[in-house]
Amino acid sequence: RAKRQGRNTFQFYTAEMNAVTLEKLRLENELRHALSRKELVLHYQPQVNLQTGQVIGVEALIRWKHPTMGMVSPAKFIPLAEESGLIVPIGEWVLREACQQSIRWQEMGLPALKMSVNLSALQFKKQDVAELVRLVLEETGLAPHLLDLEFTESLVMEDTEHILAVLASLKQIGVRLSVDDFGTGYSSLSYLKRFPVDTIKIDRAFVQSVHHTQEDAMLTRAIIALAHSMNLKTVAEGVETEAQLDFLMEHQCNEVQGFYFSRPLVVQDLEQLLLQRAHFEIKTSAIKTSEI
Ligand code: C2E
Ligand code: MG
Ligand code: MG
Ligand code: MG
Repeated sequence: RAKRQGRNTFQFYTAEMNAVTLEKLRLENELRHALSRKELVLHYQPQVNLQTGQVIGVEALIRWKHPTMGMVSPAKFIPLAEESGLIVPIGEWVLREACQQSIRWQEMGLPALKMSVNLSALQFKKQDVAELVRLVLEETGLAPHLLDLEFTESLVMEDTEHILAVLASLKQIGVRLSVDDFGTGYSSLSYLKRFPVDTIKIDRAFVQSVHHTQEDAMLTRAIIALAHSMNLKTVAEGVETEAQLDFLMEHQCNEVQGFYFSRPLVVQDLEQLLLQRAHFEIKTSAIKTSEI
């Protein structure tokens, strides 16, 4: 009896595993076709300068419009794209599409915006990212200083010499470099001195708890101070409340990105936003209190 039960359990377990594996394989297979079937789209989230309230840039964020599953979040398929290597062609598409879009906006007469694009560590390993960037800028005619490439801390912990060389080439081209999700990795801070980084994006985990935990408030303040002492710009991610905004203004964070101002938007909605108002109203309460 026990033997039979054990066997049933085993079978059940295998069936479940198979279901998960099959689902993953199916998704991976569909992702393989997503590019050619034009199911991938970019949404754009405004980045706002905290001193002027001006939208100074956007971050391109990928979405998968799946025919039956609907909008699939990158949190779900980017890891799969990385595991399967599909992130290389997908990342290339994102870069090209974002640069082309930026040019389309300029042609519409909209003010030149900085375009932030996320790069996966795998792209640095599997292809010559600097050469790709050079090519895409040449193809699209986008000015290098308008392109901002985001990568995470984990990148600089890997093949340091190689990565350092690629980042140096990118810097040579004239694009901007940002460390995304700053504070969540385990790397030592010394890489900030060695790598030609322009901007630190403070992870939203810190931003969202500045008013709940003393430690996160202290860390956020310390990150901003550290960045500024090294002449790096700070961008806070995931700003949702006025209280968070006030805190960031008080501590002179340079830019913010978050639902408080805007969610990531489809092209038309972003255009609408840019045409309607050149800048957001920034309440000055925080500035005043810090000046007293
Ligand atoms: P990320 O680069 O750190 O992007 C910011 C994420 O925070 C986005 O999630 C954005 O929608 C979300 N966010 C922005 N403001 C708020 C807020 O106020 N509250 C909350 N709760 N969330 C906010 P999204 O679009 O789901 O993207 C998740 C991650 O997927 C990105 O994190 C990035 O790591 C990755 N990703 C997205 N697009 C690409 C891409 O084209 N290439 C690569 N390699 N990764 C991408
Ligand atoms: Mg990012
Ligand atoms: Mg981030
Ligand atoms: Mg993130």
